[in-house]
Amino acid sequence: MPTFEYAPAPESRDLANLRPSYQMFVDGKFVDGTGRPLKTVNPATEEVLAEVATASPDDVDLAVRAARRAYDRVWGRMPGAERGKYLFRIARLIQERSRELAVLESLDNGKPIKEARDTDVPTAAAHFFHHAGWADKLDYAGYGPEPRPLGVAAQVIPWNFPLLMLAWKIAPALACGNTVVLKPAETTPLTALVFADICRQAELPPGVVNILPGAGDIGAALVAHPDVDKVAFTGSTEVGKEITRTLAGTGRRLTLELGGKAANIVFDDAPLDQAVEGIVNGIFFNQGHVCCAGSRLLVQESVAEELLAKLHTRIATLRVGDPLDKNTDVGAINSREQLDKIVELSDAGDAEGAQRWTSPCPLPDRGLFFAPTVFSEVQQSMRIAKEEIFGPVLSVLTFRTPDEAVAKANNTPYGLSAGVWTEKGSRILWAAQRLRAGVVWANTFNRFDPTAPFGGYRESGFGREGGRAGLEAYLDV
Ligand code: NDP
Repeated sequence: MPTFEYAPAPESRDLANLRPSYQMFVDGKFVDGTGRPLKTVNPATEEVLAEVATASPDDVDLAVRAARRAYDRVWGRMPGAERGKYLFRIARLIQERSRELAVLESLDNGKPIKEARDTDVPTAAAHFFHHAGWADKLDYAGYGPEPRPLGVAAQVIPWNFPLLMLAWKIAPALACGNTVVLKPAETTPLTALVFADICRQAELPPGVVNILPGAGDIGAALVAHPDVDKVAFTGSTEVGKEITRTLAGTGRRLTLELGGKAANIVFDDAPLDQAVEGIVNGIFFNQGHVCCAGSRLLVQESVAEELLAKLHTRIATLRVGDPLDKNTDVGAINSREQLDKIVELSDAGDAEGAQRWTSPCPLPDRGLFFAPTVFSEVQQSMRIAKEEIFGPVLSVLTFRTPDEAVAKANNTPYGLSAGVWTEKGSRILWAAQRLRAGVVWANTFNRFDPTAPFGGYRESGFGREGGRAGLEAYLDV
């Protein structure tokens, strides 16, 4: 196969308008927090990008109070059509500042610029456009006439899609008339703070959106605050369980979007070349830091050898490196802690007898990188088949019959997503009815659209984000 050399095509870092320091956003103002400032790092170089003010529990209280005032006096009473105008403004400002947001996201998170530019930022804008349209139509959402908002929403988000997860949380909350206090993840606070500036530019009333950077203890203080009416969390199952315990018996609403170990099932009648593209997208998109990643490939035994050979050939062409290079397919692992977890689980795969194949791609000499890896001969009992690796590591299992495929796919405590590859529509429907996953993609993977509800069940959490169903999480119904 011919190989192509690509000259570097770096996006300009200057577009990020990176500042040496950032403040928190409370009650419409940028303020210094009383927590210890954190340093956010570029995972591709391990250099400090900026110093960021963080909240203390006292700041959490101030922010919740500001959100309560804004809810009582302004936002909770504002007609939906007026709220919608603000959401449209925010959506347009995200579009206007899209290059700045994409470069900043890539720097802070490590994701390839082409993904930040083509997925994260446009999908975040799309969520605001979609929910702007709902703000004055809630009467027709199927939750009865004049559904009421809940009040103050505490939202805690992870580091894998910092701006996009913010949009998934804030857009429906505001559209339904709630006010928000949001904590971004410790390692990726920057785009949330640019979003705060967008709220300011949109002249959103003070207190409607408050952004509090900080570590997990601030997340814990926020979700436990007694004046919060609703908590929305995306992150690990472990923390999700902790939050569930905190809220038990309080009567406060909770939605959780947690981990996953999705099966991507390839039947022997599938178009294999197309499936290869979907498998690669399913596990190597965003370095595999994706809760719904297709991290378990289940392939029918009769085509397993052929598919694996095609996969190795395709994966070997993925370019791993500088996230700001427009040619990069796989960027940096977000933190040393996450890289250690990926290394540890991959080593467990070796120890338990799976066959490791590593892409021969060159890796940069510095920064946090992990070469795309495929484990074959994986057994269901192995850790790499059961635990969320959250990295560019695919575990391949085989099956002989459709029933066996479904049984293996469902053999997990999670239930977030699944993929089915086959040319038969009837088989897609048969499998989709039996797969215990919130989302089932057919002959595609990782499709996100604000009109489609997303969410899981069992240890992947509960509640939906997006679409009409996602509104329920922010309405008193
Ligand atoms: P966490 O669940 O710890 O982090 C998610 C968010 O919750 C962060 O903002 C975090 O703050 C905050 N947080 C942490 N502890 C608490 C708490 N007790 N109460 C309230 N908020 C809290 O995920 P990690 O970053 O530690 O990642 C660990 C693993 O979780 C990953 O390897 C992956 O398997 C999974 N994960 C799943 C995600 C998903 O999309 N479902 C997203 C991210 C991770 P801080 O940043 O300070 O930790």
